Amino acid sequence: MKYFSTRSMDDKVGAAGAVVRGLAPDGGLYVPESIPRFELREIEALLTLGYTERAARVMTPFMGGFSGREVRELCAGAYTGSFDCPEIAPTRFIDENTCCLELWHGPTSAFKDMALQMLPHLLTASLKKEGETLGVCILVATSGDTGKAALEGFRDVPGTRIMVFYPRDGVSDVQRLQMVTQEGANVNVCAVEGNFDDAQAGVKRIFSDRALAAELAGSGWFLSSANSINWGRLLPQIAYYFSCYCDCVNAGVVKLGEKLNFCVPTGNFGNILAGWLAKQMGLPVGRFICASNANNVLTDFINTGVYDKRREFHLTTSPSMDILVSSNLERLLYFLTGDCQRVSGWMRELSECGRYDVGGELRERIRAEFSAGFATDDMAAAEIERLWSGHGYLIDTHTAVAFSVLNAYRRESGDAAPAAVVSTASPYKFCTSVLSALGESADAPGHELIRRLEELTGTSAPAPLSGLADKTERFTGCVKPEGMREAVREFLA
Ligand SMILES: *Cc1c(COP(=O)(O)O)cnc(C)c1O
Repeated sequence: MKYFSTRSMDDKVGAAGAVVRGLAPDGGLYVPESIPRFELREIEALLTLGYTERAARVMTPFMGGFSGREVRELCAGAYTGSFDCPEIAPTRFIDENTCCLELWHGPTSAFKDMALQMLPHLLTASLKKEGETLGVCILVATSGDTGKAALEGFRDVPGTRIMVFYPRDGVSDVQRLQMVTQEGANVNVCAVEGNFDDAQAGVKRIFSDRALAAELAGSGWFLSSANSINWGRLLPQIAYYFSCYCDCVNAGVVKLGEKLNFCVPTGNFGNILAGWLAKQMGLPVGRFICASNANNVLTDFINTGVYDKRREFHLTTSPSMDILVSSNLERLLYFLTGDCQRVSGWMRELSECGRYDVGGELRERIRAEFSAGFATDDMAAAEIERLWSGHGYLIDTHTAVAFSVLNAYRRESGDAAPAAVVSTASPYKFCTSVLSALGESADAPGHELIRRLEELTGTSAPAPLSGLADKTERFTGCVKPEGMREAVREFLA
């Protein structure tokens, strides 16, 4: 299996090359030249397997240059010992036709662990295959969860360093504490004055800075990405859609071959795109329901075909979805059109004018598979309360956005098909908002709120979060977006 850029097919690389490069040299994102197909009986064969083996089978056909055994070892390395439940990604059943896929049982309590526990293994294996001799420094712009998950994945991995930038006023207190207390000799964390898009734009500028790349190569380093633009982030995420479907078949929620809808709380469009790829591989999925918060640029795009980022940016109670430029949408546009030139054109319009219009024909093709909606903070809070008081099920704010959007979708469309809500974070990561939604006061430091939520609900916080109170804050730096380049130079000097 070869990969090329969404913006030109000229330069083909193997799976290892795509993972090592992260972003293609022309600024595009790597895509596989074809999508492998699974027959129903191959899905049936997954029913009796555990998560690690399901993941290995789903990933292997994409991993040209890796043997089946190497892929199994990568999956075992990622998922053995680091998750707090044996199912890794358990499916919880809420009512007869609604379930919830919990993706937050990894070390940082958010779904990013599903890919970022694997990426360091995948990247070091890929570097070896590519004959790379320089050390790799991972640069991350985070809206909160990616940063911590990447730090935890890469900490003390030989031959690597990692530097994370987060928006100073755009993450929850627990998220901030998780990052600034990070342990490991090869890590660095820095706040940025601005929002997530400022931090992400800063990182993209650094990646395309040739002078800096040459200088860093001189001191033994090259830069790579752990953001969801990296194919190595997307690929492990395809597996949990298959796994959830299998869980639903095993539980009798759907019969093998019957369709399941997925509702996904969406920011950069990585998670939902992985689901869409699973469907292209043959997984029986009806619709993908794309759930946004007040930053509803994707809701508008899916409904109108016009992507317009020129709008007010809202800080919401679901900060990991506070994003106006959803990078992975570029991959969907490529897959649907197969036309690198049109995709490049739209991306140029987006960066030059802040807007592009894909036209009516493509819009209808998108709407044939995706529905979209958004929920305000109040709507999400009402969902947290409803699920707790009605079902004894505690959810975080991002998952609540998805539940709210799914309810609205079902009301408006009349589509009563079974649906899985993808749950992307532990409620304990967003204690302040979860406590307020349950009618409690939330005016205390993050670690105190964790205790309060445990007492109120009789549930327990994931161990790494309850341990935060005893950790020291190691990283206190904050830079303007223009200062990010210099911060990287100093870290690697
Ligand atoms: C990253 C994140 C999202 C958004 O996922 P995308 O792949 O960027 O669409 C949603 N919820 C949580 C908790 C996240 O950390």
